[in-house]
Amino acid sequence: MLDALHRITRTLGNAVSLDDGLAVVVRGVKAHLAVDVCSVYLVDASDTSFVLMATDGLDPRAVGTMRFGRGEGLVGLVVESQRPISLSNAQEHPRFRHFPELGGRAHHAFLGVPIVHHRKVLGVLVVRQSNDRAFSRDEEAFLTATATAVAGLAQVTTPAGAETVIGSRGRHPTSDLFQGIKGASGIGIGEGVLPSPAADLDTAHDRVVEDVEAEAHAFQEAVSAVRAELLLSGERVAAEMPAEAHAMFGVYIELLDDDELFADTLERIRAGAWAGSALRRTITEHARAFEEMTDPYFRARAEDLRGLGRRVLLRLQSRESEQKRYPERCVLVGEEISIARIADVPAGQLAGIVCTHGSPFSHTAILARTLRIPAVMGIGGVPLDQLGGRRLLVDGDHGRVFIDPAPDVVEEFDRLIKQQSDSAEALSVLRGLPAETPDGVRVALLANVGLPSDLANALDSGAEGIGLFRTEFTFMVRDSFPSEDDQYQIYREALASFAPRPVTMRTLDVGGDKGLPYFPIQEGNAFLGWRGIRLTLDNPGIFLTQLRALLRANAGIGNLQILLPMISSPREVDEVRGLLARAAGEIVSTGQLMAACRLGAMVEVPSAVYQMDALAKRVDFFSIGTNDLTQYLLAVDRTNARVSRHFDSLHPAVIRAINDAVRSARDAHRPISVCGEMAGDPASAVLLMGMGIDALSMAPSCIPLVKRALRKFTRRRAQLLVATAIGVEDPSEVHHLLSAAFEHAGLGGDSL
Ligand code: PEP
Ligand code: MG
Repeated sequence: MLDALHRITRTLGNAVSLDDGLAVVVRGVKAHLAVDVCSVYLVDASDTSFVLMATDGLDPRAVGTMRFGRGEGLVGLVVESQRPISLSNAQEHPRFRHFPELGGRAHHAFLGVPIVHHRKVLGVLVVRQSNDRAFSRDEEAFLTATATAVAGLAQVTTPAGAETVIGSRGRHPTSDLFQGIKGASGIGIGEGVLPSPAADLDTAHDRVVEDVEAEAHAFQEAVSAVRAELLLSGERVAAEMPAEAHAMFGVYIELLDDDELFADTLERIRAGAWAGSALRRTITEHARAFEEMTDPYFRARAEDLRGLGRRVLLRLQSRESEQKRYPERCVLVGEEISIARIADVPAGQLAGIVCTHGSPFSHTAILARTLRIPAVMGIGGVPLDQLGGRRLLVDGDHGRVFIDPAPDVVEEFDRLIKQQSDSAEALSVLRGLPAETPDGVRVALLANVGLPSDLANALDSGAEGIGLFRTEFTFMVRDSFPSEDDQYQIYREALASFAPRPVTMRTLDVGGDKGLPYFPIQEGNAFLGWRGIRLTLDNPGIFLTQLRALLRANAGIGNLQILLPMISSPREVDEVRGLLARAAGEIVSTGQLMAACRLGAMVEVPSAVYQMDALAKRVDFFSIGTNDLTQYLLAVDRTNARVSRHFDSLHPAVIRAINDAVRSARDAHRPISVCGEMAGDPASAVLLMGMGIDALSMAPSCIPLVKRALRKFTRRRAQLLVATAIGVEDPSEVHHLLSAAFEHAGLGGDSL
């Protein structure tokens, strides 16, 4: 049963269109269940009837014309009841109807399951048999699982409505339009490019190469580079890394020096294979041999071998991305697009990002927003392999992607782009004005920065400083840990370009959806695992290097603030203070210059909200990370497209937590800001101002609209909104409250 399901879903993944995919489903299901008929019905554009979209067993001429009304027949019954209907003799059921136009004999046995996406019935998957037959529970489960896969494919939508499946152009779905989730606003058109995924041996597919000697050379170079890097990293972290983690370097080097591993890969390359696939085959073969050994020590070496393989592959890929030529306007497409792949694209050539996974709160979307690149996340059912080289229109404002858009569609979007640039122009008059409410309350508007290349955008936006520099992004775009001097240069540039305005550097926050390819962490529940401050405190070598680079970069400038991510207990701040003192001592003892700075804690783990008093004794300021705070309070994975509708920073519980945090910070006389995505949403910004927040830090492109909103609402009015929002029970009431207030203030449509 499982094999059949995997076969169908795998083939579905390669389908080039909805028709193609549905044909696979009906053929596969019919064969597996040995039934006479398998058919798929999908809801039409008017949302009133279900159209036969694919069949194996009925008259194919009925496809596209045969339809059931919502309350009609057994198909209608499945839709109404939203559950499987299984009948050994359907003709005895009062809802049975015989449709002569379907051709053939009347069928007795019937099993229909709803195709559901986000709680909405998109269609029905039906099997029929001419004789009596009782379908088993397993068969019902198989059909239900297949319907779930079809739902992913069938969420293709029309421009007219996000919920309809079959396009207004008739029975052929608009397979050129895919609906996802808004990632970053804006509209971009470019050629689809599928970057190689992050070093993952399993996806290093077979590929034949012409110049085998060049390939062999590249492999030898990658191996030497990894050996050198391992030696260096091993030395650099020898003193501070946990012994177990440090031992990994030695094991890797030993494995790398294994002649057989090296020779086997070269032999495969010389037989014509691409170095990546040759490496994958060799590693898999050797790892399997380790796994089969009885000694647990040797069995554990299998994972080391794979880790080593990933490192060599990473080197090979970085050579490829250096050589890779990107089209003049390119749209990166993939399941997930890593920060490193975004940084590979030469400046000015990236027109858009499309991911089948992820949500607006994934770090890919967050970086896209700071870079002003339109992005669409979580589009299901897209045949990724087919998108390379196609012309793609990314509509980040509505979370849609058009494939090979027709000229009239492009024209319409050109008009929209022009309109957007006119409104941006109109807002630019606000640039020199403060974010001040009509009753004279000032809120500092700061910029979030991901990569050093964002600095120009941040400066242009008129930001009053940097409220969040995600230093981990600069670690993520490299092949190995940046040295202290590399980091010093990056931090110094940021501090100098904004001086005397404050620059808040957050220390390395890896883990969760932010991985370092050269420091792989395998965890079942990464967001609750070795993340942020936990990882850096456990690796003082890495942490001290960063702290020294920061303190040195601040010498003679003095605008640095250090912000600590994922603080969940006051003890962590004490440990950081100890390391800060040690870093300062090391700098002074070597005669270098440095300047001390203010220290702050992120409030993004719920426990921090309830220990603000203790934390306030240890830090100079707070910054609320509403992305993680929402994720942890509501138990919603911020990167999971399937539950993204449950992720809502305007949930009354989140609002209460933020309000409590602001109050505690006030009581302790510590400034408090917000640097999560909520700060960049104008309506949320008004609410935060009402709570008494001192500063808001956001993607630079959000500053003008937030400033306009703050200049329209008095603190008093915002306080009343807070009082109401805190008292309601459902997030939708908060949304209504704010949109009504915005309409009233003449700002309708200015919120996310
Ligand atoms: C947050 O969690 O809100 C935050 C600002 O940090 P990040 O999005 O990088 O986790
Ligand atoms: Mg966070």
